[in-house]
Amino acid sequence: MVAQLRRLGFAGELSLWETGRGPGGRASTRRSRRDDQLVIDHGAPLLNLTGSPDPALLAPLLAGGWIAPWQGPVAMLEGESRLNIGRPDSLGLGQLFVGCGGMDRLSEGLLQLVGEAGVALHYGTLVRHLARQPQGPWQLFDADRQLLGEADWLVLSGTLLAHPRSGWIFGWPEVPLVQAAAPLGDLQLEHGLTTLAGIRFEARSNLLLVFAGEAARAWRALPFALVNFDAAAQQRWGLRRLRIQPLADGRCAVVAHSSDAFAADHLDVVGSRSAVARLLQLPQEPGREQTVIQALGEAVVQSLAPWISGLDLAQAAPQLMRWGAAFPLPPGLPRALTLCATSQVGFCGDYVAGPGFGRIEGAMRSAEGLAAALVAAAGLRSG
Ligand SMILES: Cc1cc2nc3c(=O)[nH]c(=O)nc-3n(C[C@H](O)[C@H](O)[C@H](O)COP(=O)(O)OP(=O)(O)OC[C@H]3O[C@@H](n4cnc5c(N)ncnc54)[C@H](O)[C@@H]3O)c2cc1C
Repeated sequence: MVAQLRRLGFAGELSLWETGRGPGGRASTRRSRRDDQLVIDHGAPLLNLTGSPDPALLAPLLAGGWIAPWQGPVAMLEGESRLNIGRPDSLGLGQLFVGCGGMDRLSEGLLQLVGEAGVALHYGTLVRHLARQPQGPWQLFDADRQLLGEADWLVLSGTLLAHPRSGWIFGWPEVPLVQAAAPLGDLQLEHGLTTLAGIRFEARSNLLLVFAGEAARAWRALPFALVNFDAAAQQRWGLRRLRIQPLADGRCAVVAHSSDAFAADHLDVVGSRSAVARLLQLPQEPGREQTVIQALGEAVVQSLAPWISGLDLAQAAPQLMRWGAAFPLPPGLPRALTLCATSQVGFCGDYVAGPGFGRIEGAMRSAEGLAAALVAAAGLRSG
């Protein structure tokens, strides 16, 4: 959104608040301060474009070397153990792209495209409360009600502040934007918030593995870099996808994405190294986490046994990453409700209905659409 606003000529101030330590959201990359070769795409492994024309931001991202076309071999595990090499799933259709050096490079690239006018970045900051005085700016507050910042326009690129799931995750008694919107009397915003509240999400429990030595060589030699599981295989193994990600130093990361059903059954186990665990300062429950890690690990070993054997997962530093709201389910928020001019609120993200819904493509297209609508409707070009 910020990149496209700048490209359309907006010269005013832009600020971005992000609870994560860096950019990327669900298309981010796990990195290690102690091990700079460790780069694991623990959320979206690829960007796939099925609509046309291409998003306007695609060409500059490619030209800047932030992303590149991906032609890795894919396969579909059908039923228990029939491998159909070359068959993609719905996330593998169309043009495929990967972040150069990690999927978070896509978001880094977008921030670079903002150019010299810049954007003030506030990472590691959870926005907890929102308020808007009549005719005044939007105000953002942290959990202690300390003012984080003020802005004329508020754009939500995630649903957390506008969806009742914030209550289920964090125990917040109210939905922050619903509370802030109540005194504003903006019927369009209220309509949007009611629609947003009805969006449901699929979850994923992801197992992260890093192999070295002989095991890494075996993974890297497989005739597929992305294995999708069809409906029968998902039911059999509790897995949806396996991404094999060779690392620059010869190691090999493997990320096993659970099926929606598996994640739903283990929703309370978030993974001790996840952002939610950090934010909620959750007490560690190593027993429960180990059970989930073991179940996913056994599924990886057994489902791939015909192609790779002798795997010792204990040597692969297994970690769990749970995505509670991995994929929004259709129909999503209609485009017509994404710009609320009266209250000066905008919505963008993969939860907005339209081409690419539920994927990075949808997030890009809705952000580009909102940027154009903001510039046209609100005259933001003058800054
Ligand atoms: C396991 C997994 C696999 C996936 N596979 C694919 C794939 O193969 N292809 C594909 O195209 N897509 C895939 N996706 C979906 C893709 O990741 C998303 O569609 C895309 O990242 C959505 O981008 P977004 O900007 O709309 O939302 P997000 O990436 O969720 O970004 C929203 C950001 O807002 C931040 N935020 C929210 N509320 C607050 C707050 N109150 N304070 C501060 N910060 C806040 C969040 O931390 C987050 O970083 C996958 C997702 C997951 C989880």
